[in-house]
Amino acid sequence: SPDPNLILRIPTELFPPKEKSKRATSESRRRRIAGNLSLGYQDPIKMVRGWKHHLYDESGHKYLDAYNNVPHVGHCHPAVVEAVQRQMSLLSTNTRYLHDAIAELGDRIVATLPDELEVCYFLSSASEANELALRLARAHTGRKDVIVLEGAYHGHTTSLIDISPYKHDGPGGEGAPNWVHVAELADLYRGQYHDATTAGGLFAESVARICSDYSGRISAFIAESCPSVGGQIVFPPGYLSSVYEILRREGALCIADEVQTGYGRLGHSFYGFEEQEVSPDIVVLGKPIGNGYPLAAVIARRDIAESFDNGMEFFATFGGSTVSCAAGLAVLDVLANEALQENAHQTGEQLLDGFRKLQADYPIIGDVRGSGFFLGLELVRDSKSLEPAATEASFVVNRMREKGVLIGTDGPLNNVLKVRPPMTFDAQSAEQLLDALRRSLEELPR
Ligand code: PMP
Repeated sequence: SPDPNLILRIPTELFPPKEKSKRATSESRRRRIAGNLSLGYQDPIKMVRGWKHHLYDESGHKYLDAYNNVPHVGHCHPAVVEAVQRQMSLLSTNTRYLHDAIAELGDRIVATLPDELEVCYFLSSASEANELALRLARAHTGRKDVIVLEGAYHGHTTSLIDISPYKHDGPGGEGAPNWVHVAELADLYRGQYHDATTAGGLFAESVARICSDYSGRISAFIAESCPSVGGQIVFPPGYLSSVYEILRREGALCIADEVQTGYGRLGHSFYGFEEQEVSPDIVVLGKPIGNGYPLAAVIARRDIAESFDNGMEFFATFGGSTVSCAAGLAVLDVLANEALQENAHQTGEQLLDGFRKLQADYPIIGDVRGSGFFLGLELVRDSKSLEPAATEASFVVNRMREKGVLIGTDGPLNNVLKVRPPMTFDAQSAEQLLDALRRSLEELPR
């Protein structure tokens, strides 16, 4: 009901301030906010409330959220809200004072990682964290160059645009600077190798070639353990282990950007690198680890942290604040208490199964990939030429939004449907999503 108070008659002074109309909000945003801060969907949505894996717009319309990964344990989870409120009202300060929360969060995160990863840095965004990871690698190796993957995105700062082909090769970009070397993306569907049993080693040769061309210059290789902006890609077995071996021979470090894949999203593992059976030298965490409260982390080997401790003080005003650590601890508690990784595994299987059935009926679905709540459906017009169906992908996403289900598109060709819900997404929601997807595919102009 748009106005339940016709019946309830709660005194109106207890209500939050009345929402501006969607049109007024849109006009004030256009007037004041930079134009390249883009909105989702042809008909953008004004959201006013979130709960678990649902969002509500200003007219009370409910959306199933299968897109947002930042509210990892569910929108507005009461345990996180309560932890943040309590800490905010008690003490909100920085790392210049002793406080238990930061050390406890460090212990809890380190316990989820391989033994060699021991030293934590806390920051407020994944961009800040990736920046710091680059500084650590440079301080430890005394070198500057970085190897990245095609289509990668690691953040919005100047150096991170430099290492993000998704941005520097896109509109308005100026290409890679001379210290950045772009390796082939190990994409079994669209790349040059398709046999999963041999592709891992073959794709890694691209990294080996860069290492031999620029020997003595490479400080680090950085990659998401499953490239997300790159199109929800799952590496072939043995890919990262081959790459890491090459880099270690070269004396360079391996950085795993686990911002999207970490904290159980993939279902059968807590981190994406586990599935590739590697142990990175530096791990970067972000967005989901504070469930919407700004929190990111870098975890490094102790010898790397010691190289970075070279006399220059390290300090980030909000990084590791008492409140952000309270949020981080609450997120880890909820993840465990509500068995959300297990849920991602089970419900992810249900979604994958449903997607594969749809693929049998709709040949436009060229590939179904991912695991847990990190899933992609690549749409193509022709299964031989793999002509990307970007217009169709956008059509489906917008039709689903009209049916009350939020997903997105991704990939360098904008033709991959991206499904990446909060970890609370349940079996009933999966059925609703599959039904909306089938109906949207059915409506595609033939
Ligand atoms: N790394 C990855 C893999 C990301 O997806 C993002 C954000 N989409 C970032 C880094 C940067 O995160 P932020 O915008 O929070 O700085």
